Amino acid sequence: MKRFALAGNPNSGKTTLFNNLTGSTAHVGNWPGVTVDKREGTYKKLAEPIAIVDLPGIYSLSPYTPEEVISRNYILDEKPDCVINIVDATNLERNLYLTTQIMEIDVPMVIALNMIDEVEKAGDKIDAAALEEKIGVPVVKISALKGKGIDELMRRAYECSRSPRLGKTVLEGGKLMHLIGDCRIALEGAGVDNALFHAIKLAELDELEVKQHPQSAKMVEEFKKTFKDDTFGSDFEAIVADSRYKYISHNYSSALTKNKRSAREKLSSSDKADKILTHKIWGIPIFLVILFAVFHLTFSENFLWIGAALPEGWVSGEGTAFEGVFGDGGINSIGVILFNLLDLATSSISDAIAGAMSAGGVADWATGLVVDGIFGGLFAVLSFLPQILLLFLFFSILEDSGYMARVAFILDRIFRRFGLSGRAFMPMIMGFGCSVPAMVNTRTLADESERIATIRVIPFFSCGAKLPILTAIAGGIVQMTGLGNADIITYSMYVLGIVVAIAAVLIMRSTTMRGEVPPFIMELPAYRAPQFRSLMMLLWDKLKHFVKKAFTIILASTIVIWFISHFSFNWKFLPDSEMNDSILAGIGMLVRPLFTPLGFGSQLNDWGWVFVVAAVTGLIAKENVIATFGTLAACITSGFVADEALEGVDAVAEMISATGIGIPALIAFIAFNMLTIPCFAAVATAKAEMPDKKRFNYTLVFWVVTSYLVASMIYLIGEWWWTSFIWVAVWAAAITLIVLYNKGKLKNLKLPKINFKKRA
Ligand code: GDP
Repeated sequence: MKRFALAGNPNSGKTTLFNNLTGSTAHVGNWPGVTVDKREGTYKKLAEPIAIVDLPGIYSLSPYTPEEVISRNYILDEKPDCVINIVDATNLERNLYLTTQIMEIDVPMVIALNMIDEVEKAGDKIDAAALEEKIGVPVVKISALKGKGIDELMRRAYECSRSPRLGKTVLEGGKLMHLIGDCRIALEGAGVDNALFHAIKLAELDELEVKQHPQSAKMVEEFKKTFKDDTFGSDFEAIVADSRYKYISHNYSSALTKNKRSAREKLSSSDKADKILTHKIWGIPIFLVILFAVFHLTFSENFLWIGAALPEGWVSGEGTAFEGVFGDGGINSIGVILFNLLDLATSSISDAIAGAMSAGGVADWATGLVVDGIFGGLFAVLSFLPQILLLFLFFSILEDSGYMARVAFILDRIFRRFGLSGRAFMPMIMGFGCSVPAMVNTRTLADESERIATIRVIPFFSCGAKLPILTAIAGGIVQMTGLGNADIITYSMYVLGIVVAIAAVLIMRSTTMRGEVPPFIMELPAYRAPQFRSLMMLLWDKLKHFVKKAFTIILASTIVIWFISHFSFNWKFLPDSEMNDSILAGIGMLVRPLFTPLGFGSQLNDWGWVFVVAAVTGLIAKENVIATFGTLAACITSGFVADEALEGVDAVAEMISATGIGIPALIAFIAFNMLTIPCFAAVATAKAEMPDKKRFNYTLVFWVVTSYLVASMIYLIGEWWWTSFIWVAVWAAAITLIVLYNKGKLKNLKLPKINFKKRA
């Protein structure tokens, strides 16, 4: 099968084109660096099927980051039948820089002038035919988004793929051509493929190239000594780059006719927005407010208080089947309303099933297995689906609009103090969705130590699967104690994760993971209205992924949990009330002393082992934590709720009432689950992204230690805050005294001098 590769600058629309060509639903983002690994699909509308390979976005073929190496090596070594060079036509000159480099490789190529819709909307014109004549490869205008010009592009690419093309360079006639020519002859003599391309990279003294062809590199060094040009000294890389840009602006730029007025207007409206959103002082507070609004819309009960002005019972819908769904007093946020609606549906399903089974005289254990074991666990997790999806939707809107790239920009200044570049912000934000793609995305970071430090803290950015833990426990706390507000607890836990991540990075970057922070070069993408279709596709993907996980891993785990919690070590079936004699309880009791410093160990009563077991099952998938509660809490008859399948919050409330666990221990429980070793999938990804085994092992230790320390600190301070307060005060006083004493400020205090006498 023929293979066509898509190559282009980050954010030029490669993923959109790829999806369009292959019917795939890969994630499109208005953010440079969304595709960090190559992806394959098939285009079927030509005489024969064509494999389409989407390469990571790159600005040039002199790679610094791992993703850039992937793209360069693919084009050079795998020799695709055609390279489709996708060019963002709204940014022609900069995008053609890469084009001039691909041209130098002996590979058929076509140029796709993408985003032509935007160019036309702005009233600009591009003469594709003129450009085609000058560059010497086919140029096709397309709009990947609107699906325009795609068939024409593929037709021409197919045509090209049938005859080989020899590389040519725009450096012809330049100062270095003599050197490049010599290198080329030497390389050709040595039988090297793509001699022209390699000769140019050698002339630039490209690191990879020098390693591969040390012999020819010596020649360049010799030549360099004879080269005394004032403009650049002997920085050949700069000379080459300069020649490319000059060539582009002299020869290619005339193909573009700008509509002067519209260009100025467009610039100013986006500039105006940037003036506010990336403001030195206001940028960050604005970001925090937006973030809080997102959480408020997703998690808050009594989102709006106007309900109070309405006649009593209007909002709460007293007496109807929807009582309390839309609010009680105030109006609930969208997230809570959706949550309540789903809750209504799932509880009527499980009630109906439980009713039918007991009416049909089904054995108790079978009813228990179905209602608690299967539905209890599943519903406990599924009930959070609306809020997870909503949070995703909001984040995607922020990302697609181009705002997240601005946030990276404003955070760069702060990140730098922690030893990170603004680029690290993207993987971190992605971590709120799922650690797996987030860890892969760290490939956009050039410094290896920065990359590893970032991978280590990504799980602290609480992912979608951990959301049920946060929400259910926060909800449980509010329900049981009437204290606080669920969305503030949830929000603070997210903030805790971020703070721990920052502290951890700071410590790592100043001790074991030192390294230079490379300068932050990321162009700000244009503000764009998020595409409805692309957002819906993303949500659909998430939904599928979540439901699939619920009906496989989580279902299997809850059934296993139910079985081992209802059988004793000598395989006797145990009714709910004797669950404390079960295999699971036995194991839980055995390990629970380990969790005593965290507040959910030996100090809890008989049922306390459920917390320990839940935390351990979370290592398989984080949703399991709440699924385990759902399965087990229904069996505990503390009298808080009737014996039925429980949704997440009720399950936690039940556990709180059965064990009498306190708020500090509950918060410690969330913190432990949030910061400890992430799920299997994330651990496997971290391992794959860290070729050095020792570093990976340290990473596991790091997760365990951090979660244990932070959780126990929360518990200890929360439970004995008065004692802790005194301790801290005493220590602070002691340290202050020592510091002052050392500075000699207390000299006149006449402290006794301590003499050490030698023993005779
Ligand atoms: P990649 O980083 O190169 O994979 O780029 P994406 O495919 O993620 O696209 C980046 C942004 O450009 C997204 O917001 C797309 O919706 C948008 N985009 C892509 N192609 C077009 C197009 O033809 N016209 C317009 N107006 N926007 C586009």
